[in-house]
Amino acid sequence: MSRFLQARYQPLEAYTPGEQPQDKTYIKLNTNESPYPPSPGVLAAVNAEQASLLRLYSDPECTELRKRLAALYDVQYENVFVTNGSDDALNFAFMAFAGTDVPAVFPDISYGFYKVFAQLNGIPYRTIPLREDFTLCPSDYYNAEGMVVIANPNAPTGLARARDEMEEIVRQNPDHVVLIDEAYVDFGAESCIPLTKKYDNLLVVQTFSKSRSMAGARLGFAIGSADLIADLTKLKYSTNPYSLNRITLAAGAAAVAENDYFMQHCADIIRTRTKTTARLREMGFEVPESCANFVFARHPKLSGEALYTELKARGVLVRHFTSPRISAFNRITIGTPEEMETMLKYIEEILAQ
Ligand code: PMP
Repeated sequence: MSRFLQARYQPLEAYTPGEQPQDKTYIKLNTNESPYPPSPGVLAAVNAEQASLLRLYSDPECTELRKRLAALYDVQYENVFVTNGSDDALNFAFMAFAGTDVPAVFPDISYGFYKVFAQLNGIPYRTIPLREDFTLCPSDYYNAEGMVVIANPNAPTGLARARDEMEEIVRQNPDHVVLIDEAYVDFGAESCIPLTKKYDNLLVVQTFSKSRSMAGARLGFAIGSADLIADLTKLKYSTNPYSLNRITLAAGAAAVAENDYFMQHCADIIRTRTKTTARLREMGFEVPESCANFVFARHPKLSGEALYTELKARGVLVRHFTSPRISAFNRITIGTPEEMETMLKYIEEILAQ
């Protein structure tokens, strides 16, 4: 730490991203990326012509991409906000809709970045424990004292709540924003985007990083009332109006035009998830019913850390968290059927040791 870092940032504990090793090739099942490439239109959009246009600024309004997202989700252009990864959308939402007098409220086990966004922006926060089985109790979030933030499906558990249960949380918090992070929704949960027409306090955030195979492009979006979107836009234009580069914007627009391609791959991933879950359970793992592109698993006879280390030694990366409630678990991204086969074979080997 330099002697110049301001006091307000000194206690900040930055988010630790999953490992992105650059030294050797792993079967990478640790950061919930898609094992499938983006659609042909995306590959074509990232071309030499686009590259030659890099001398020009990108469109700060992100017009074409927002139009296409609005059409896909049956909302208006004014209801769509696009960002450099959904982390940016989440951060802007924390900045805009929570503050000293408006705390943030979220589950104890959820996406680790929520705490960081709260700390970064000087926002007090309260975590609400998930039930013993990691399910979320909707009524715990009724009449909350501030902005409610819920990942649905949740990470790292993969568990999801139904849309009508989420709606009740939105209805029971009319004077605070309810932020629903749907990073994994395309893998089997119900989106709350249709509800944004009915509730002016609902903001739904999604990403192109998981179901759209574009983690490296850094593209996310939020959908909500025109007023919420105007507030977020004001903050984006007060930091970096050009935060989305030309190549990502072109790739994103192409991806939305080929939505079916991505949804087919989501169906493939769901099939692989079902098989992987069954095999892991046969081997004695406890695996909550996942609605995401990962499973969360623990074994009574093998510590979470041992499984992580043994798999890594064999060239398979999974995600192990150290926080006490979940340290026995690993979060395993669903890869191709072949990758899962290899991983399962290694796990059998490790259990037999
Ligand atoms: N929300 C959740 C629940 C996530 O797991 C992630 C991925 N780490 C994100 C948001 C952020 O994804 P991105 O910034 O790549 O859109």
